[in-house]
Formats: sequence, C-alpha cells, structure tokens
Amino acid sequence: MGCDGGTIPKRHELVKGPKKVEKVDKNAALAARWKYCALSTEKLRRPIVTCDLGRLYNKDAVIEFLLDKSADRPNSEVVSHLRGIKDIKELNLTDNPAWEGERRNTKGDRYEDMHCAMFICPVVGLEMNGKHRFCFLRTCGCVFSDRALKEVKTEICHKCGDPFKEEDLVVLNGTKEEVEKLRKIMEEKRAKAKATKKIQTPPKPFLQRAKLQQKMAKTAASQSLDPLVLPAPPRWSNPWQHPEAWRNPGARGPSSPWKRSRRPTNLSSPATVQPSAPKPRRPTGLPTPPTTSK
Ligand SMILES: [Zn+2]
Repeated sequence: MGCDGGTIPKRHELVKGPKKVEKVDKNAALAARWKYCALSTEKLRRPIVTCDLGRLYNKDAVIEFLLDKSADRPNSEVVSHLRGIKDIKELNLTDNPAWEGERRNTKGDRYEDMHCAMFICPVVGLEMNGKHRFCFLRTCGCVFSDRALKEVKTEICHKCGDPFKEEDLVVLNGTKEEVEKLRKIMEEKRAKAKATKKIQTPPKPFLQRAKLQQKMAKTAASQSLDPLVLPAPPRWSNPWQHPEAWRNPGARGPSSPWKRSRRPTNLSSPATVQPSAPKPRRPTGLPTPPTTSK
C-alpha cells in the first residue's frame, strides 16, 4: 500500500479536506476602504464624495452610475441607496504633506507603505489610513478625526467655520452596526421628507386654477381694468381668415372695436397709407383672392 520507496502516505495526503477559506488580511481590507472607491474600486482621487452611509467614492464613478442605473456593473449593490446627485456629498479633505503621490513608486521598486495616507485630520494630524475613526459633517463636507472632535468641543466646523449640530456628524467607513444605524437614519429622513412634501404641495388642479387667477389679476392691474370684464380677443385678426374675404378682398372681417381702439390713429387716415405697402400675407390653404386691375 506504500508509495515507491517504501513510504507510507498519511491520511491528510490522500483525503481532500474542506477548501481552506482564503483569509483576507483584516488590516489590508480596512486600509483598502480608505484608499479605493467603493464603487469602481479604483484609487480614490479628488473629487471624492460620500453618501448617507459614509462610504467613499470617486465622484465620476457615482455620476456614471446615476446617469445609467440600468447598466450591469459590479459593485452596484454598494450604491443601490443612491437616488440622485442630492444623495452624495463632496468631501472637503486635508492633504497629507507626507504623501508623495503615485510618482514615488512608479518603478515599483519601493515598498508601498499601506499606512501612509493621502489625507489627514486638519486638527490633530492623524492619518486617514483606516486605523482611526473619521467623521464628516453633513453641512459642509469637512472631514475630521474622531479624536479631534472629542478633544476640541465645538459647534462650528474646525476647517471652514460653518455651524453644525451633533446629528450632522456621520462616521466614515464605520463598522457594520454603525452603517446599519446610518441606514435607519437615512430611511427615517427620507420618509419624513416625503410626508412633508405631500402636505406642502397642494393638488395640481388647485395650483393651475390659482395660477390662472393670479395671471388674470396681473393683466387687469396692468391695464387698470376690472378683471371680470376683460376685453374679448379680436375674432378676425387676419382679414384673409374671414370666410367672405376671398370674395371681396376689400372687405375686412367684422369690425372689432377692441382692436380699433388700440390702433394708432394716424394709420386709419388714407393719406398715410403707402401704395407700395406690402399686402397682408395670405395664409396658405385658402382660395386665392381675385386680383383687381386698376
Ligand atoms: Zn466645514
């Protein structure tokens, strides 16, 4: 039963055990969330945006997704809660002066330090590399470390000076529990917004009626007329539209006092009428008026 050479195989050499689950380095996975876009998995580069759940994305990747949500792309479940551009917030990040950018390792001959982050906390200088908790403000989008917010109690943003409240703070790349909490807050906020919108917006027919009334009142005010007795529009503004016009080109439509009263008086005088004045344009589709020879 032995192999050649008289060796005796052991059980683990013959029996296949369950597949070993590939262990992902926990630190590397955490660091990756701060370095790569959650949607496109490309390296994060400005402009960087976040959502109500505190994930980091490249803005162009999110916009591409929003423009065509139906397209089949990987990782789309990460952004399924985004309805439009209003659901993302551009982050105001602070560059890490120690970060040398991508050019440092173009040859690939240098050790890439996983913990050298692109951004830091503007208050205490902690690097945004996944080792420390970071938050952003819903109001202005500025990003700070949790430590800065705990150490320096403030009601205005450290970076831009905008006032904020406790509930405007959102943790970036939080734990599973924190993300669930944020999702709950987001859903409550959306339900509330929907309810208030329903109350504030009156039904459409009512709106249209109100608009019309407003317009009528405005017209009446500009012409200093009673809004209830608005002048009737001219019935035959174009003489050729009158059914009798083709029979007698000299005859204009039924006289319209409304129009005549607004016509300049000198036009009605025959002396000012130019003989070469162009004839009024006849609308197509009507019989040709008989030409009168002089
Ligand atoms: Zn700010």
